[in-house]
Amino acid sequence: MCNCMTWCRVPTDDNGGKYPISNHAPGCEDFKQEPFTRLEYDGTACVMEPHEAGAMLADSDEEYIVSTVMLTRDQFERMPEFQGF
Ligand SMILES: [Zn+2]
Repeated sequence: MCNCMTWCRVPTDDNGGKYPISNHAPGCEDFKQEPFTRLEYDGTACVMEPHEAGAMLADSDEEYIVSTVMLTRDQFERMPEFQGF
């Protein structure tokens, strides 16, 4: 059961301030990070589900910088919608 509701939340260096803060604090048993794929092209980056990134890369001739970021599902869902490269 979640026990972190009264813990304070601090932006940490490991998200570089780039991603929303999770609903749950690290150390809470409901804090579950999953791998998401970050694609960067021409200075613009987006984060997507790994299977969607795979499909997009298979479809595209462009060179993307691909990396994996660990986020919780709620962090991912709170990110602003990507407007396209
Ligand atoms: Zn929690």
